[in-house]
Amino acid sequence: MHPKNTLIINDEIREYVVERKKTKALKIKVLPDLSIRVISPYNISYKEINKFLNEKIDWITKNIEHFKLINIKPKPEYKSGSVINFFDRKFNLEVIKSPEQVIQVRGDRMIIRILHTNEEIIEDIIYGWYRIHSPYYFNLIIEKCLFKLEKYGIKKPRLSVRKMKSSWGSCSKVKNKIILNSMLAGKSMEFIVFIVMHELCHLVHANHSKDFYALLSELMPDWKLRKNKVESMWN
Ligand SMILES: [Zn+2]
Repeated sequence: MHPKNTLIINDEIREYVVERKKTKALKIKVLPDLSIRVISPYNISYKEINKFLNEKIDWITKNIEHFKLINIKPKPEYKSGSVINFFDRKFNLEVIKSPEQVIQVRGDRMIIRILHTNEEIIEDIIYGWYRIHSPYYFNLIIEKCLFKLEKYGIKKPRLSVRKMKSSWGSCSKVKNKIILNSMLAGKSMEFIVFIVMHELCHLVHANHSKDFYALLSELMPDWKLRKNKVESMWN
């Protein structure tokens, strides 16, 4: 057990946990469940830790507010009447109870027939549909973005689309291949184009170096804005 200590933030008493480690400096972490964790070297007293936390109260408050906002953001719903985004096209979702499992798109309707109308299964079906239908559109976007990289002599990379848990895309310069998250198809076009451009820039600079960001900023000066608009769960 780590000893618990308290801190007063905006008239609210909050507990924090101190974890002792072989480390040189004090570190504070605010976790998504709003808990506060302090990582401290062995030789620092609790009094000093508390003083340090009180000096960082603005930073802690900011992070708590950030997670509070994220936590109240509603999760997308997958039931009849929901709107499903696909490269800025909107489909009205219809979920019909049926012994067979089918997904169909008719004009602006996305119809899912399913035995158990469980939202997680419906989400999986939709992402499966994204994976099958999105490569065509992703390839069009890649071709368009590649024009901007013409002077670097980049060959069109191979594309793979799959569901990923912790990133929107990745790139292998050596294999000349980019992987995009199938869930990306449900985001706005301006965000999708930003991710594609980001991955294509890795074909010039493999790492997130200064040169990489200089190139990205040259080709897409508003990339930060595009990124911030999507309050992404991943950075
Ligand atoms: Zn990157």
